[in-house]
Amino acid sequence: MTNPLFKFDSLPDFSKIKAEHIVPAVTEQIHKNRHHLEKLLEDIDVPSWQNLIEPTSIVDRELDNLWSPVSHINSVANSNEWREQYEQCLPILTEYAAEVGQNQVLFQHYQNLAEQETLAPQQQKVIKDALLGFKLSGIDLTKDKQNRYKEIKKQLSKLSSDFSNHVLDATMAWKKLISDVADLRGIPESSLEQFAQKAEDDEQQGYLLDLQFPTYLAILTYADNRELRKELYQAYATRASEYSSNKDWDNGPLISEIMSLRQELAELLGFESYAHYSTATKMAERPDRVIAFLEELVAPSLRAAKNEIKALSEFAFKRDGLESLQAWDLSYYSELLRQQDFDISQEALRPYFPEAQVTQTLFDIAETLFAIKIELNTEVDIWHEDVRFYDIRNTNDELIARFYLDLYAREHKRGGAWMDSCRDRIEMGQIKQIPVAYLTCNFAGPSKDKPALLTHDDVLTLFHEFGHGLHHMLTQVNESQISGINGVEWDAVELPSQLMENYAYHEPSLRAMAKHYVTGEVLDDLTIQKLIEARSFQAGMFMLRQLEFALFDFRIHLEFDKHNNNYWQDILAEVRDQVNLITVPEFNRFACGFSHIFAGGYAAGYYSYKWAEVLSADVWEYFEEKGPMATDTGQHYHRCILGQGGSKPAMELFVDFRGREPTIEPLLKQQGIL
Ligand code: ZN
Repeated sequence: MTNPLFKFDSLPDFSKIKAEHIVPAVTEQIHKNRHHLEKLLEDIDVPSWQNLIEPTSIVDRELDNLWSPVSHINSVANSNEWREQYEQCLPILTEYAAEVGQNQVLFQHYQNLAEQETLAPQQQKVIKDALLGFKLSGIDLTKDKQNRYKEIKKQLSKLSSDFSNHVLDATMAWKKLISDVADLRGIPESSLEQFAQKAEDDEQQGYLLDLQFPTYLAILTYADNRELRKELYQAYATRASEYSSNKDWDNGPLISEIMSLRQELAELLGFESYAHYSTATKMAERPDRVIAFLEELVAPSLRAAKNEIKALSEFAFKRDGLESLQAWDLSYYSELLRQQDFDISQEALRPYFPEAQVTQTLFDIAETLFAIKIELNTEVDIWHEDVRFYDIRNTNDELIARFYLDLYAREHKRGGAWMDSCRDRIEMGQIKQIPVAYLTCNFAGPSKDKPALLTHDDVLTLFHEFGHGLHHMLTQVNESQISGINGVEWDAVELPSQLMENYAYHEPSLRAMAKHYVTGEVLDDLTIQKLIEARSFQAGMFMLRQLEFALFDFRIHLEFDKHNNNYWQDILAEVRDQVNLITVPEFNRFACGFSHIFAGGYAAGYYSYKWAEVLSADVWEYFEEKGPMATDTGQHYHRCILGQGGSKPAMELFVDFRGREPTIEPLLKQQGIL
């Protein structure tokens, strides 16, 4: 029997891949790659693009293609067996990556190659990035230190994985059955149906609440029952902390351990802090620029947020005699105030955003801007019946990219929304591979008698992830190291995603997608206007929350204190003092669930969301000047930024597009903060 994971030239056979295939495939492939590299290095006399980069890229591709479905299924259809196999591979993979990154002979060849003048600019960028990668992998270190480097990497990878599992387990462990619907007053019908369905699936009667994000959000936003809001808030804010039902899930000690290892890693490589290490590969380049950038946003946001909180407090007092707003009141009263001021509610809008209609509009926009065709393909092997698959063709009817769309929340699927690569674009030697993306969301799915109906926030999320998808799929770059989102600085990578969010506020696009799922009636002009105006509703408060996360993340990586294990808690308290206008409850352990920075790639990089938002608002200003539905606009953007991947530094791409460097004003204007 051949292992189905050894399938590199087409899409993964999801239905055939079993947990027991994982470890053998990874072990064998790494063995093969290791051997291949050894042999290659023996044979090379004078390195060239053809005798070094091409063959190594081709075997790297095999490992990437093998691992992509493994890691994807681990996130979207998690099981104990799968997780166990997946985790066994992590140390093997990190060790192999570190080994390649510290290969002296390979490094020498890259250095020699860098001096050759015959390389094309894109090839030079690949070599330049690789050389920086070598440095960051500890190529210059003594043997002892290299071993320590590998050990740290391995430990960090294990800790990240534990961190993420604790959050998932703690989230799944919490359930609350409610038998009397009166306790759920205020909750919209669509959510009640979901809760009833969950109870039924669990062979219980009534309404089953859990900590999946749609449930949490529905309770916090709509439950009249303040105690219930508090209970959910507390359960969610203490996930994977010392308050968890299972003490083994406490991520607090893991955070201290992770921070200490990251600092050690940074120092090993000659950086002052992990923040210095992180910015070495980013558009911001230096920590002081990041801090200055965030501080620049704090002042105007605080000014705006103070007024917003004042209005909210007055509203809550007038309506319910509430003396002081608590953390679990914010979403609830904000939604009521939004309804009063704008007469629109996320819930009331749901019937106007049937998923199929929204997706179609999104596809139409992309088809117009980039002269492509997006077609459903039902012939492809998928991991769950809800998943859809699409082909993208250009004007010559050539297949140029493909994607999986997995939109609905379900058990054993990690929360949140993201885009990931299934296949990278590569054209080298005999190999020609088109990009394939996974687009994953966690929307409430269809019910017995209704299609999936999205909130406007869901629409934003979908457009956002599709923006990442376009970046990955419409790349024009042939070298996989710098095609799509590869080789793009982290703090610039959210530009294409956030840019697409603007279409969810673009009047003609709204008119095209906001049609009642039964009557087909278009959402009225007034409501559309209000929906657009509501974009700046509490923009200051929202900005402050993001700045809180960003400052916390960046400062704990910049100000490591080796004498105080819990220094990160002190920094959190300082940041909260600086940006919070409502006291955060003592029990709140948000850091314990902050997977982005402790289990994801955003360490000392969460600021990237804001950084890239500045870029995307500035790009959108150009779109508005030139026409957001003009193919010329789309093509100019595709030519300068979207199609370029990581082939040039992000600042250069931005200047190519805009004719100047970015400024923060378009963002502040767009949010109504200026
Ligand atoms: Zn994103």
